[in-house]
Amino acid sequence: MNTRLHYLGSAARILEPLQHLAILTCMDARIEVSALLGLRPGDAHIIRNAGGRASDDALKALAISQAVMKTREVMVIHHTECALGRFNQAQLAEQISAAAGHHFDEDLDSFTDPIAAVVEDLERLRLSPYLPHRDKIRGFIYDLAANIVTEVIHA
Ligand SMILES: [Zn+2]
Repeated sequence: MNTRLHYLGSAARILEPLQHLAILTCMDARIEVSALLGLRPGDAHIIRNAGGRASDDALKALAISQAVMKTREVMVIHHTECALGRFNQAQLAEQISAAAGHHFDEDLDSFTDPIAAVVEDLERLRLSPYLPHRDKIRGFIYDLAANIVTEVIHA
């Protein structure tokens, strides 16, 4: 057993996350998901993208997570000061186009209201026909400055 697998201990032999949990969050480098939630290696799937949005790709990952890896719970965690909330679609697309030298016109899921963005993602996940377990899908906002995670409660 190599050092890494030794570090993982019993988790090294189990592909399924021990906490049966999948987390969808932003790629922002300031979010240290495991430390924030007290997770250990092997505990949870962590799916990250720009904004932590419930994109088609994120939905595919969650479908695999639930159907194949037996996760039963989803946490969507967005955060304050998110670049997807600070820049709008046009600004982001313009910067990508300029940097890449090719016109970029894909939807980036930018948002103006972070709470509304969480609610929208929760609805996308709850409406997905590919997620067999939709009763424990919860949304949160991580306040970077205060280092506090708050649940987003909505009807
Ligand atoms: Zn972000």
